[in-house]
Amino acid sequence: MSEPSCFDCGSPSIHTRLPHAWICKACRRRRHYHPQPCPGCGTTRPLAYRSTKSTDRADDRGDERIVCASCAGAESVFACHECGQEDHPYGATRCARCFLRERLTELLTDPGTGQIHTRLRPVFNELVTSERPQTGIWWLRKQPGIGPRLLGQMARGELEISHGTFRALPCDRAHNYLRELLASVGVLPAYEPRIERIPPWLDQKLGPLPADHADLVRRFAHWHVLRHLRNMARQGQLTKTMTDSARDRISAAIRFLAYLHAHGATAATVTQEQLERYQISHAISLASEYTFITWLRRSGINTRLRIPYVPAGPPTVNISDEQRWQHVERLLHDQTLRSYTRLGGLFTLLFAQPLSRIVAMRTSQVTMHTDGRVDVTFSTIPVQMPTVVDQIIRDHLHHRGQSLYASRGTQWLFPGGKPGHHLQTENIRAQLVAIGIKPYESRKAALFQLAGEMPAPVLAELLGIPDSTAADWAKLAARDWTGYIADRAR
Ligand SMILES: [Zn+2]
Ligand SMILES: [Zn+2]
Ligand SMILES: [Zn+2]
Repeated sequence: MSEPSCFDCGSPSIHTRLPHAWICKACRRRRHYHPQPCPGCGTTRPLAYRSTKSTDRADDRGDERIVCASCAGAESVFACHECGQEDHPYGATRCARCFLRERLTELLTDPGTGQIHTRLRPVFNELVTSERPQTGIWWLRKQPGIGPRLLGQMARGELEISHGTFRALPCDRAHNYLRELLASVGVLPAYEPRIERIPPWLDQKLGPLPADHADLVRRFAHWHVLRHLRNMARQGQLTKTMTDSARDRISAAIRFLAYLHAHGATAATVTQEQLERYQISHAISLASEYTFITWLRRSGINTRLRIPYVPAGPPTVNISDEQRWQHVERLLHDQTLRSYTRLGGLFTLLFAQPLSRIVAMRTSQVTMHTDGRVDVTFSTIPVQMPTVVDQIIRDHLHHRGQSLYASRGTQWLFPGGKPGHHLQTENIRAQLVAIGIKPYESRKAALFQLAGEMPAPVLAELLGIPDSTAADWAKLAARDWTGYIADRAR
């Protein structure tokens, strides 16, 4: 009898015994890492077993069907020796999840109790059950391993588990990542890095100021500006524009107080006339000062000041319908673009959604029907997605967030690179701008077209915009159509 060789490739260096043959290490690995839909039961699993069903013995070509272990009634050689799962192949006998569980148990065990540290239990659960445990193993191994080392110190009681601990440490990617991970699983209170960076910046700005100015600005910043940002963050709507303008407003308050000081006035005594002189001498619109002055009035510090209301102009559209459809075409068919860029652009161009709302969408807003239709609920009414868009959504959901922690609990439609967060508007905006699409202009063009197609109240409800905005657009759309029709009639 001849020496056994690999059933798949004929190599003489056999490794694993299957019921019907031997296979080599490389072929075993290939079959394990590339599961296929089983012809017997349809589930996607490693296939390596000869079907035992007599009807399956041979097809027309005389080939034998290769099926999964269950369909062959065999014990799977691919199963993890610890948990019995075939998923996430990693070591020779154990899966990535079992490896990860072991490493995390070592790392997070509290020597006092011999158990996983009670407060860090959610971190353990989150990482162990993450969709791709390989990512967790990689994170634990990656050098210089700042995050895992801190976690270990916290588990052993060498470091306090608090935001205070992080405030005393460098504010770099590795530290922020762990801090956000802890916040996203509820070990630490919610934390928004873009907001967290403002208080240290504020302290720096206030340092050289007279104490009374510093106190007033600090109150304004904490009780008004930061509070507003935290509210927006809680609703998942914080954008970079908001944090930038928050700093602007604080700087404007400081500038205004300095001017008053130089002119012998204070926030409490400044008159309307002085405010207007300030505006003229600085040649500014007071847009940045507006919040501070409104706050002074509302908190009773100075109730005399008014900033004249400058009405925003009527809505305008600066891109043509043709341009808009060119952009739509590109996003529908350009496979080289990321799916979140394509969907973000399409939701803007077709449904007039602002990026700040798009990034905060949840998977619960998407309904997949068995017949392939996909509905998206932007506001309260489900909207059926046009063909191709539905396919992009299905693909996106399929691939979404494979390498992320803490994306399941929140169910963001566009999970970000940081645990628990959705994508930032800038992620999508920058990529759209790079291919010549201006999100804000596109959104206005979409509003214009939609406003011409449906009554304002329906538009408002469909898109989740205020009735008054919908009415403005309806007016604009109607006016232009009237003009267009009049031209045609001539
Ligand atoms: Zn082989
Ligand atoms: Zn099967
Ligand atoms: Zn396992």
